[in-house]
Amino acid sequence: MSENKKVRVRFAPSPTGALHLGGVRTALFNYLFAKHNGGDFLLRIEDTDQTRYVEGAEEYIINSLKWCGLIVDEGVGAGGSFGPYRQSERKDIYRQYAIDLVASDNAYYAFDSAAELDVLRSKCESKGETFIYNASTRKNLNNSLTKSKEATQALIDEGVPYVIRFKMRDNEEVILNDIIRGEVHFNTSTLDDKVLFKSDGMPTYHLANVVDDHLMKISHVIRGEEWLPSLPLHYLLYRSFGWLDTMPQFAHLPLILKPVGNGKLSKRDGNKMGFPVFPLEFTDPATGETWHGYREDGYFPEAFINMLALLGWNAGDDKEIYSLDELCEAFTLERVTKSGSKFDPEKAKWFNHKYLVAKSDIELASLLKELLLKRDITFDNAKLEKICSLMKERANFIADILDNGLFFFQAPTKYEEKDVKKHWKDNSSAILTELYHILENITDFSATSTEQIVSEWINSKGLSFGKVMNPFRVAIVGAAKGPHLFDITEVIGKNETLSRLKRAIEVIK
Ligand code: GLU
Repeated sequence: MSENKKVRVRFAPSPTGALHLGGVRTALFNYLFAKHNGGDFLLRIEDTDQTRYVEGAEEYIINSLKWCGLIVDEGVGAGGSFGPYRQSERKDIYRQYAIDLVASDNAYYAFDSAAELDVLRSKCESKGETFIYNASTRKNLNNSLTKSKEATQALIDEGVPYVIRFKMRDNEEVILNDIIRGEVHFNTSTLDDKVLFKSDGMPTYHLANVVDDHLMKISHVIRGEEWLPSLPLHYLLYRSFGWLDTMPQFAHLPLILKPVGNGKLSKRDGNKMGFPVFPLEFTDPATGETWHGYREDGYFPEAFINMLALLGWNAGDDKEIYSLDELCEAFTLERVTKSGSKFDPEKAKWFNHKYLVAKSDIELASLLKELLLKRDITFDNAKLEKICSLMKERANFIADILDNGLFFFQAPTKYEEKDVKKHWKDNSSAILTELYHILENITDFSATSTEQIVSEWINSKGLSFGKVMNPFRVAIVGAAKGPHLFDITEVIGKNETLSRLKRAIEVIK
């Protein structure tokens, strides 16, 4: 394996749909590793399987990385000197590599049709066995190993469709090193003769991936655990090409697991439990189905990234809040966990809350303003800042400030029944009518001034605070909730306070 070369990593998604949380985390860990080591972060689009291509998926991937703040140094959308970075545009490169492997006796042409292979599969199945194209079967099948050179060439010249298969060694023990998992052992007898080059003239993932990682001088391959079974094949490909001295180092990331139960987090889990599994909203062009996105659900990208980084990685201490720069500084692959991490949607909200309260009231106010504009509500900036400062402790999202604090923007249209029952006594209307006249005469309607005058009046009357303040709150807010009442009356102002009081006195019996 190569050491001491410039760190170059790639995120290599296939554009087969929206990028799942797990995919974003793979991109993030690649990015963090690159930045920690002063290296390059590449984006390569692996679109050789045309049957799985989804319109818009590539754009979605690019937009997602952008939203997350993961800047691509080189690759699709960024350019660079190792391009093109879209595998469909590198089509012509791969054939020669496949042919070279045939020449070195590491691969062979196979002419078996899909129908013929299906028959073999069913035959095996009926005997409770699994058909596998490997050393034990290839000698009886329709390929260049069982034909003369001339016969093979004749078939190719005739245009008979063929694939190129890797000639997997029989019973070789392969021991490899994974940065996260340590030594991993494989026996090649469990592996089949994978197709490297397809009859449609396209390489398969395995060939294109290895050739490109080599040509693009990738130093470390950091990818999901689902690719670990492909590692021995990839290693054998490097060996067959004679590239072992520059072979990248490998790190296979653990799975992100369902919040409850077992198994990998799926997009269905998100729908079932009401949390997004995609960074951005996505409408599947085939089904028309729309999936929630973290962005649209009101998450801050910094919070989303912070939450993702801690799914399967920690610095070995209790620190949980990291900016992207801090993550770049702290991240090492050695501290990525071997076992999967359960996804916790509540923790995701907690992260967002932490980022929300850390923002300045000015910034929160401008975000709140955007939301209000969507509902055709305009409001004074200074007041919005005040509202944010009063409401942020209880909010996970900007929308919570609006939803929990609707009373700042509009008079209650109804009064919470149980609160009325509890707090609106027989004498409440009379007390609030008196309060109305006290408030009417206040010129400085700031919270401190109003509170002082009202308190003095309550004391002078020998009333209990609850008798006044509880029905007063119901009149202003519509329910027994919300921040300090005089902060609310300061924001909504004298006229609005009086009009809400008047209406409550008239309406609540
Ligand atoms: N195209 C593969 C994927 O979508 C990339 C796997 C790899 O990084 O080697 O997961």
